[in-house]
Amino acid sequence: MENILYKDENSKYCSDCGKIIKLRAEICPNCGCRQAHASNLNEKNRIAAALFAFFLGSFGAHKFYLGKIWLGVLYLIFTWTFIPSVISLIEGILFLIMSDQDFNMKYNR
Ligand SMILES: [Zn+2]
Repeated sequence: MENILYKDENSKYCSDCGKIIKLRAEICPNCGCRQAHASNLNEKNRIAAALFAFFLGSFGAHKFYLGKIWLGVLYLIFTWTFIPSVISLIEGILFLIMSDQDFNMKYNR
């Protein structure tokens, strides 16, 4: 079993457990799940999500980015209360401190 620490162009995240595996792997060596072929196309980036949260968070940009459209709309509606900007600041920090694996488990599956 190979131990790939960093994701490069020859690796991807397991669509089920979030571990980094070979790009062409059909079956995840970690959890044994079959990989969905299109899983790499819509992959969300943890740092991008954090940046969206920091700079455009009060407009729900990170929610839209992560495909949580209704939450994004909710942030937009309540932008004037400044509550979304406080929440998104916290969410941005959480994105930064969370591991890639945790992030993928939540948003890339
Ligand atoms: Zn897996």
